[in-house]
Amino acid sequence: SIMMSVRVAPFGERKRQRLVVGRDITKVFHLNMIRRDFVANASHELRTPLTVIAGFVENLASSALTPEIHRRPLSLMENQTNRMRTIIEDLLTLSRLELEDTASNLEPVNIPQEIEQVVADARTLSAGDHAIALDLDRDLMLIGNQSELRSAISNLVFNAVKHTAAGSKVRVLWHDEPGGPVFQVADDGPGIAPEHIPRITERFYRVDKARSRASGGTGLGLAIVKHVLSHHDALLSIASDPGQGTTFTCRFPQESRLRRHDQLPQAPA
Ligand code: ADP
Repeated sequence: SIMMSVRVAPFGERKRQRLVVGRDITKVFHLNMIRRDFVANASHELRTPLTVIAGFVENLASSALTPEIHRRPLSLMENQTNRMRTIIEDLLTLSRLELEDTASNLEPVNIPQEIEQVVADARTLSAGDHAIALDLDRDLMLIGNQSELRSAISNLVFNAVKHTAAGSKVRVLWHDEPGGPVFQVADDGPGIAPEHIPRITERFYRVDKARSRASGGTGLGLAIVKHVLSHHDALLSIASDPGQGTTFTCRFPQESRLRRHDQLPQAPA
């Protein structure tokens, strides 16, 4: 017989109890749990020293007293510390998402508003190189976790800008279908070859590592999207024709739909 750790305390308290079960898949489960804790702890431990270093580097890089000869190396160090911060933040986001099976803090989320804010930032990043068009049902909201949904929207919209050349078109769609609300980001960029699609949501999986790095990518974005969607019982589908573009579609369940003027169910008195 094999020992398996199960979580007994609700809401993520770290108390565990032993339970005897008969099969070996428990090992995988256990190793996964160890990996998850390790990633969460490592990211957390790295964050503090990095914040200190980044602070000093930033001060030195912008100080009038810094000798000219140190300016370029300092500005390179500043870029790299910022890059590490982004990776660590994404790792922390991912490990937080992995701790729970479903989204918590559910509330009505104004998706059209979230999309508009994300798109405003994406337009800044693109600096006019991309035409981003919106097709939004303004009255359609969603019951969900706001910050999780925002990060999913943001990763998909930013990917469409980061992984396509200047002059590309991006279309962001949010509308209601009989099956439930649908969020979609489509671009007319280089596309993703079919052999990569099944693995594209794995952490750190990138079609072209050098390119992804150059565009500021961490390789964690789609892994984050996948977890957020599974927290919301939503489905992700990816359609791509190499050379023609890529379309990411997120289908949310009917029950999560909310019209702007609908009454929320009243809590029992
Ligand atoms: P990254 O930080 O590199 O964007 P992601 O997990 O978000 O990591 O995406 C994984 C990889 O999927 C990217 O490196 C890129 O190769 C590919 N990819 C994602 N979105 C697109 C897109 N819209 N067009 C083409 N390739 C994409």
